[in-house]
Amino acid sequence: MAERVFNFGAGPAVLPEPVLEQIRDHLPALPGVGMSVLEISHRSPAFDEILATAEANIRALAGVPDDYRVLFLQGGATLQFSMVPMNLLPPDGTADYLLTGSWAAQAAREAEKFGSVRVAATTEAEGFGRLPSAAEIDISSTAAYVHATTNNTIAGTQWPAMPDVGDRPLVVDASSDILSRPIDVAGHGLIYAGAQKNLGPAGVTVVIVRPDLAERGPSSLPKLLRYATYVQGGSRPNTPPVFAIYVVSLVTAWLRDQGGLQAAAARNERKAAKLYAAIDRTDFYRGVADPDSRSRMNVTFRLPTPELEAGFIHETEAAGLSGLKGHRSVGGLRASIYNAFPEAGVDALAAFMAEFERTYG
Ligand SMILES: *Cc1c(COP(=O)(O)O)cnc(C)c1O
Repeated sequence: MAERVFNFGAGPAVLPEPVLEQIRDHLPALPGVGMSVLEISHRSPAFDEILATAEANIRALAGVPDDYRVLFLQGGATLQFSMVPMNLLPPDGTADYLLTGSWAAQAAREAEKFGSVRVAATTEAEGFGRLPSAAEIDISSTAAYVHATTNNTIAGTQWPAMPDVGDRPLVVDASSDILSRPIDVAGHGLIYAGAQKNLGPAGVTVVIVRPDLAERGPSSLPKLLRYATYVQGGSRPNTPPVFAIYVVSLVTAWLRDQGGLQAAAARNERKAAKLYAAIDRTDFYRGVADPDSRSRMNVTFRLPTPELEAGFIHETEAAGLSGLKGHRSVGGLRASIYNAFPEAGVDALAAFMAEFERTYG
C-alpha cells in the first residue's frame, strides 16, 4: 500500500485500515464466489449474505429492538431531509425542529415544503456554537415528530444526551456520530445517517425506523421515496449500492471486533479530550464550540488570525495531517476524528499544534 496520511476530512472520511486491506485482498474475487463484489448480482446468495451481515451487525452493535426496521437507501442524508416529512408529516400537520446547525436548518427548510415546521429551539443567533438547554426547548404536544441533529458536523457540537421529547417520535440525523457511542434506539422514532462519516463509503444511507412509522407514508408517494417500499423489498426494491453495503458490513464487523460501542465511545472520548486539551492549554488556540456542547467527532477551533490559519493548513498538509480546513461556510479549522481515525493521528496533531505555537505564537 502507498503511504497513508492522517485524514482529518469531515466526509467522506477515513476508513479502518484492516477494512481497506480486506477490500483490497478480496476485490478481484470474493472467497467462495469467484467474482468481485463489484460484479455480483444484487439478487445473488453472496449479496443476500452481505446485506444480512450488515443489518445483523448494526442490530447487534446498536441494540436495535427486533421490531424496528434497518433499511439501506440511497440519496444521502440530504434525501432524508425530504423523505422524513414526505412520510411522517401530514399536509395539515406540524413538525418540531431543533435548529442546532446548518444541516438541521437545511432539514427544516426542506420539511416546510410538505407541512408546517415549528422551531422548538434554535441557537442560530449564536452561530450554533452551543446546544439549547432543556429550559430553552419547547416541544409541541401535537408535533408529528421532533427532528434533531445528534452531532453538528460544521459547528462542532454534539448533544451529550438527546433532549426529552415526551411521547412525540424523535427523528435524528446521526450522519456524523452514528455508532460512535451507545444509543437508546427504542427512544427514537427514526434514525438516519449517510454512511460516509462513520459507517463506510458514500452511496448508502442507513435508516433505523419504528415499524409503525415505516408504514406511515401515503401510497401516493413515489415508490422509492416511501419507507414502506424498502421494508417490503428488503432494501432491494431496485438495485442497491452493493459495494457500499459490503463496506458497511466490514466496518461494522471491525467495530464489533474492537469491543462494540462502549469501547468506541471510550476511544472517541480519549481522542477528543487530547485535542481539546491541546486547544485549551494556551490562548493561542480557541475552541469554537461552547465547552459543554463540544463534539467528540468534529473538533473546531480558530487561530488568532486568518493568515495564521492559512499557514496552519498549509503546514499540516505538508506534514501529512490532511483535511483540517474548516467547512467553507464558517472557515477556521476542523479536525474530524470519527471512529476509524487513529489515536496516533490525534497525538501527531497535538504535537504539531504545540510546535506551530512555539514558532508563530
Ligand atoms: C454530512 C452531513 C449531511 C449531508 O450528508 P449527504 O449524505 O451528503 O447528504 C447531513 N447531515 C449531517 C449531520 C452531516 O454531517
